[in-house]
Amino acid sequence: AEVLDTAWALRWIRNTADVISAERTQLIELDRAIGDADHGENLDRGFTAVIGRIDAGEASATPASVLKLVAMTLMSTVGGAAGPLYGTAFLRAATALGDAEEVDAALVATLVGAARDGIMARGKAEVGDKTMVDAWTPAADAARTAAQDGATPADVLAAAARAAEAGARGTEPLIARKGRASYLGERSAGHRDPGAVSSALILRAAADAAQE
Ligand code: ADP
Ligand code: MG
Ligand code: MG
Repeated sequence: AEVLDTAWALRWIRNTADVISAERTQLIELDRAIGDADHGENLDRGFTAVIGRIDAGEASATPASVLKLVAMTLMSTVGGAAGPLYGTAFLRAATALGDAEEVDAALVATLVGAARDGIMARGKAEVGDKTMVDAWTPAADAARTAAQDGATPADVLAAAARAAEAGARGTEPLIARKGRASYLGERSAGHRDPGAVSSALILRAAADAAQE
């Protein structure tokens, strides 16, 4: 498809809730190694609450309304570092879409970039600090390049997801400089960052939703 719509946004969030639930244990174990073992539980609680509100009919007619509902729900239910960070990401993404009913390739790239910018503004982490920024920044860059090269929205998201997955794998040797993992110093090296891994899952869910 040349444009994505509200049904895509709803599929994205349902796919995300499914994959976060399926990968809950993996995310908990990653966070156990360098944090406090709650990342999978936090996100699963948050996205379960989001689905409850979607099923109750709270999201309305636009893609942005879906993303704004996600933002508000994550901010009030997830807690920890990831709740406000993902809340800000989805809120900035919603704002970037405005009242658009159709999301073209350029707007998809803008959405991913806005989410990344929101995470960086909120958490003040840079690339290489071993956080979710290490997934979102290559994803935003890949999305922009793909859109400039004339890719479809689905292919822009596929490029973003691939870049986020590579970025998440790339956090393994890094020493954490932000968040709870930074308390471990050099002992944080040798483990992938849980937030970078969950970010890649969220972007893969967006790409899969665009293929359907
Ligand atoms: P908490 O650390 O409060 O238990 P979570 O376990 O839910 O919260 O989330 C941890 C994730 O949050 C980390 O893996 C990292 O990706 C992300 N994170 C933590 N601090 C920052 C920050 N300042 N900027 C960006 N991401 C961060
Ligand atoms: Mg944690
Ligand atoms: Mg915690």
